[in-house]
Amino acid sequence: MDKKPSIFSQTLSDIEAWVSVRNEPAYRAMQVQQWLYRKRVPRFQDMSDLSQRLRGELERDFRFSPLSCLRKTGSRDTTQKFLFDLGDGNFIESVLIPASPALYGLPSDRKTICVSTQVGCAYGCKFCASGLEGWTRNLEAGEIVEQILRVEALSGEKISNVVFMGMGEPLANYQNVLTAIEIIRAPWGIGIGARHITVSTSGLAPRIRELADQPLQIRLAISLHGATDEVRQKIMPVNRKYNLATLIDACAYYNERKQQRITFEYILIENVNDGLDQAAELARLAGKLKAKINLIPYNTVQGLTWKRPSQTRQQVFFRALERSGVEATIRREKGHDIDAACGQLRLQSLRDKTFAGSDNLR
Ligand code: SAH
Ligand code: SF4
Repeated sequence: MDKKPSIFSQTLSDIEAWVSVRNEPAYRAMQVQQWLYRKRVPRFQDMSDLSQRLRGELERDFRFSPLSCLRKTGSRDTTQKFLFDLGDGNFIESVLIPASPALYGLPSDRKTICVSTQVGCAYGCKFCASGLEGWTRNLEAGEIVEQILRVEALSGEKISNVVFMGMGEPLANYQNVLTAIEIIRAPWGIGIGARHITVSTSGLAPRIRELADQPLQIRLAISLHGATDEVRQKIMPVNRKYNLATLIDACAYYNERKQQRITFEYILIENVNDGLDQAAELARLAGKLKAKINLIPYNTVQGLTWKRPSQTRQQVFFRALERSGVEATIRREKGHDIDAACGQLRLQSLRDKTFAGSDNLR
């Protein structure tokens, strides 16, 4: 693979610094960003208000290779999944979700993209497809940004919300994720406001504190999935490193500094974390942090034996939360049929080699 840095990893000030050493006026940097994010040209040669020399130098110093889409599932008005080839033998996926009111209370005409931040994941949660094959590498900031650009181009939709809930642990790729967020938010970049961006973490407590110290009003979601150490550490090895007390302290620190309320993501898995004892503890933790709870019925993963509880059991759990006065929603199912949970399309494709011969959608 071309080892030059991706042009989509560069912030405006990065390009300003790059043009200034070439004795070009600073506004050239803004011109470059406008070609990339407003006009969305596919190559440096199309940046017609830059000199040939400057276009040539951009080409020499930066990579401009859009992710190529190997497979797309779903259709308009449903959840769509995109499998991308990173060009180095690795694959990631992005999901486009017509946002339902249950998902962060947003109106339903909104389109939410779920982006990946790493190839694989080192955290090995027992229920998760992304963790199954381990961690391969971090995504560059530009590879995160490009997922949005490519999905907009392939779907014809304008994306209004970004959730960092695809493959990988965003806070384990902290610097690149922060750079990507800067580019996603910036008026010269994609221009999606911080309040429409949600970062989800399995609970990297020290990073949550660092994020709290950033002047950013993004939303934070915590993958809790267990309300006691005993239950949580059965399914999330990260809990041995940062136990619930440590995690909740970090969340409290985040709350002190931010206006946005935290969301607890809670997958319901049959006979693992769906008992009323867990509901009571979960309500207590959420009450303490004024957190909202997002219940997610578990999506089955090929090769894993975990199951989602029956509708009745899901409702009993949900009502118990409601009765205790905390704000809870149960995620309306989008895309269960096309394996919407993170990492699943990639995993399926790696196992089923037929995708290698399918049409390149680029
Ligand atoms: N690593 C981060 C973000 C990616 S996972 C995190 O763990 O928060 C995004 C969300 O999908 C997490 O809440 C995760 O627990 C959930 N998830 C993983 N596998 C799932 C499955 N099979 N069914 C439903 N949700 C799943
Ligand atoms: Fe990694 Fe998140 Fe999956 Fe856990 S749930 S293995 S942290 S991607």
